[in-house]
Amino acid sequence: MRKKRKICLLAIVFCIAFCSACGFDSKCSREFFAMDTVMSITAYGDGCEKAVNMAEREINRLDRLLSIEKSSSEVLLLNKEKQLELSNDTLKLVSRAREASIITEGAFDITTEPLTRAWGFYSELDNRVPSKQEIQDALRSVGFQHINISGNTVALDESTSIDLGGIAKGYASAKAADILKKNGVTSALISLGGNVRTVGKKPDGSFWTVGIADPDDSSKQIGMVSVSDSAVVTSGGYQRFFEEKGHIYHHIINPKTGYPADSGLKSVTVISSDDTLADALSTALFVMGLDKSSELYSKNPELFSAVLVTEDNNIYITENLKNSFSSERNFEVIFD
Ligand code: AMP
Ligand code: MG
Repeated sequence: MRKKRKICLLAIVFCIAFCSACGFDSKCSREFFAMDTVMSITAYGDGCEKAVNMAEREINRLDRLLSIEKSSSEVLLLNKEKQLELSNDTLKLVSRAREASIITEGAFDITTEPLTRAWGFYSELDNRVPSKQEIQDALRSVGFQHINISGNTVALDESTSIDLGGIAKGYASAKAADILKKNGVTSALISLGGNVRTVGKKPDGSFWTVGIADPDDSSKQIGMVSVSDSAVVTSGGYQRFFEEKGHIYHHIINPKTGYPADSGLKSVTVISSDDTLADALSTALFVMGLDKSSELYSKNPELFSAVLVTEDNNIYITENLKNSFSSERNFEVIFD
C-alpha cells in the first residue's frame, strides 16, 4: 500500500514538473493575411494560443478601421465626408503622423493620398505615370496645414485626403505586442510584412536576431540586428514598384515633388521600441536620403537606430547600433 502511494506521489510530482515545463515552453505559431500582406506571429508562454488569437483579431480590427481600401474604414469615411469625429485609434494615429511630419520636416506626410492615387498605387487602380499638371494639382492639397484637429474631430480641406498606410502597421504591431504580453506571452516574434516586432528575448534568454533584407534580392540578407522588445521596420522602393519605358517608379512619394522619392537610398531599416515611430521614420528617412537622415539622427540619437542602404550599395548604420548590427559586408557608422 505504502509503495503504491509512493509511486502515485512520484507520478504526480513528475506530472506537475512535466506540465509546468510544457506550459513554460509552449509555443504557438500563426500565419494570416491582413493589411495587404502576409503576417505571422510566433509566441511562447502560458496561454499563448488565446493571446495569439486576440492579437490576430486586433490586427484585423485595425485593418478594417484604418485601411483606405476597406469599405468599413473610418479613414475612407473621413476622406469622403471631410469632417468626422474619430475613434481613439484613428485619432491617435493622425496625431502621431503629425508628430512624425514635424520631426521629419514634412518628409512623412499622410496627405500624400492624392499622389499615391495618381500613381495608381491602390489595388483597385492600375499603375501609371501621371502628367506634370496632375502632380501639380495634387500637390496643392498636400501638407498638414490642410488638416484641422479639434478635440476628437478631424477636418480636411476640400481636396485633401489621408492615407495611414505608412504608419498603421507600426501601430498594429505595438498593439499586438501589448496584447501578447498582457496575456502571458513572455517572448514573441511578430512579422507584419516589412514590420518586425520582438517581445522580450528568445525563450533561451538570448536576443532575437532579425535579418535585414537585401533590397536587390529580398530572399537574401545584408545583415542582422540583435534586439529585444523592439520594432525593426524596413521601407524600400523594392517593396512595391512598376516599370514604364525603362524607368522604375515605386510607392514612397516625396511630398515636396509629388514623384517617387529619389534620395539615393535603396532601403531604410529603423529600430525603435516605439513601433509607430519606427514605421513613420523608415518611410520618412527613405524620402530624406542619407545626409538629412544622418542630421536627424545627430539631433535625436535616443529616438531611433537605423540601417541605410544606398543606391551605390553602401551600408550605413547609426552609432547606437554598433554593438547589435552584424554583416559580412563592409559598413560605415553615422555618428551623433
Ligand atoms: P511604408 O511601406 O511604411 O514605407 O509606407 C509606404 C506607404 O505609405 C505607401 O504605400 C503609401 O500608402 C504611403 N506613403 C507614401 N509616401 C508617403 C510619405 N511620404 N509619407 C507618408 N506616407 C506615405
Ligand atoms: Mg512606414
